[in-house]
Amino acid sequence: MVDYTFVRKDLTKRQTVIEGVLELQSPLRIGTGKSGGFDPASVVRDTVLKDVDGVPVIPGSSWKGVFRSAGERILRNKKVTVCSGVGKDYCLNNFRKFNDFQRSISHNVEEALKIFWDYTCLNCKLFGTMSVIAAVKFLDSRALEFKLGSRSMVAISRTEGAAARGALVQVEFVEPGSKFSFKMIGNNLPNYVIGYLLTIMKSIHDGYVQIGGHKTRGFGFMKFSSLRFIDKGEKKIGDEDVKVDMGEEVKGEGDKFFEQMKPFMEAFNNAKIPYPVH
Ligand SMILES: [Zn+2]
Repeated sequence: MVDYTFVRKDLTKRQTVIEGVLELQSPLRIGTGKSGGFDPASVVRDTVLKDVDGVPVIPGSSWKGVFRSAGERILRNKKVTVCSGVGKDYCLNNFRKFNDFQRSISHNVEEALKIFWDYTCLNCKLFGTMSVIAAVKFLDSRALEFKLGSRSMVAISRTEGAAARGALVQVEFVEPGSKFSFKMIGNNLPNYVIGYLLTIMKSIHDGYVQIGGHKTRGFGFMKFSSLRFIDKGEKKIGDEDVKVDMGEEVKGEGDKFFEQMKPFMEAFNNAKIPYPVH
């Protein structure tokens, strides 16, 4: 009998929280996806995403996208089978199991669990996929301290009108030194999966992964500080996991914290991920 706890949503055997503060090392640009339109001087104002109080935010959905794509690269380097989760490239579809899965959800939960376990990659299990919610939730990050800046850039957007006229875009960004909250909550995560998430966080911290827009201009570098790990419940989830017990709470600054959390990252490095089967 395979232990499916990692992908079960009907019980909580472990809850893991990782939270901290992100400090921008370079400008950050998370757009609203819509620009303010033309004004008579043909300057387009492109503002950063803010909450109702005018405070810049990084949505939880952006974090999920960043973690999934950064994780995909890490897994591919490890020669682990993984999908992109974009469009039709998701495991249940790639393995032609989506219909079987959908059918079994309503009348045979064990069968649905088995199909989902066998025919999805770590990213589908962790970040969710068609009709299955994620095992990790990212909260919206809110600026704790911030300054806004703006820069004139020549439009290279797909809105040909602006580009054709060589219009300037007034691009707003959040200045380096600004700080954001960060929090993710995991449900029933095995130790190697906690290690996987920490490995992705460390790659952001070490400057291998940028967040948001204008990456080629050097935007989107950030570092973690004031990190806190809170882990309640069982210390081993699933047959393929190894036990790591760091206690219920670990606190630390960026580099030091990642050093302390090495046992989890080693669990990920040494993990033999038994799915997807093929
Ligand atoms: Zn997948």
